[in-house]
Amino acid sequence: MPDTTIGFIGGSVAYRLMSENKITGRRLGPRPTPYGDSQPIFHCTGPQCNYYFLSRHGERGYETTAPYVNYRANVYALRDLDVRTLIAWSGPGAINPNFQIGQFVIPDDLIDETKNRPHTFYENKGIGFVRQHPTFCPALRRTISETLGALGLQYDDDATYVCTQGPRLETRAEIRKFAQYGGDLVGMTLVPEVFLAKELEMCYAAICYVTNHAEGVGPQRDFRPGALFEGLASPEEMKRVNAAVERFPEIIARLATAIARQTTPPECACHHTMERYRQRGDIGEDWREWVAR
Ligand SMILES: [Zn+2]
Repeated sequence: MPDTTIGFIGGSVAYRLMSENKITGRRLGPRPTPYGDSQPIFHCTGPQCNYYFLSRHGERGYETTAPYVNYRANVYALRDLDVRTLIAWSGPGAINPNFQIGQFVIPDDLIDETKNRPHTFYENKGIGFVRQHPTFCPALRRTISETLGALGLQYDDDATYVCTQGPRLETRAEIRKFAQYGGDLVGMTLVPEVFLAKELEMCYAAICYVTNHAEGVGPQRDFRPGALFEGLASPEEMKRVNAAVERFPEIIARLATAIARQTTPPECACHHTMERYRQRGDIGEDWREWVAR
């Protein structure tokens, strides 16, 4: 049997789904790591679910904004629970004008525009020159794609996600620059999560739902004080976004079941990203020793 311990990292509105008991599980609490405490972890077990879950921004509200999430503690804590398959969700804006508000996107590549975030487990340890293609686990992306398709949800599965530092939104000129880079989505959370997961030999992929069109994309929108994103998204669009978010409990339950049913190891190299160092004798079998501080 392949190693299928699964973890989910919930994005902006995960806390709401938890407070409404749409995502449930035994609360294990924050988990101590060499990088500080993780966000509280929940363990969902039952016929329809067997996975660990944490809400990236907090369990009661949007307490921790993207630049201040302790990404290393969250990824370490899940790996410490034997998670090798990690799926995150995120609500970016669309740079690509063809993307619809509320639709799903499974990104396949990424541009890192963050600044000063702790971004590696291997702080000057002589290891960690890890190849970044494929950026996201191709096997996991395929499973997500099949699952969204089976649920009849609209999605795209090739998109480049630009990760900015935040918490502020982007300027119009920045969005023009990202468009020239080939960016399709702009968000604040998949970096360094995806890179940290690779360092600990985990499969990682993301499910994005489009929350708005990025600054300067689509029709001109006036600055509206007091409105969400100061008017970048209309109330009608936010209804579509909320409808997308409401699908996550079903999506993650279906995904957990689909992954648990897989009887062969995934056709990807994610569990071997550190093989070069292992063969060279730089690191041993216990991953905790690789990252020991
Ligand atoms: Zn993989």
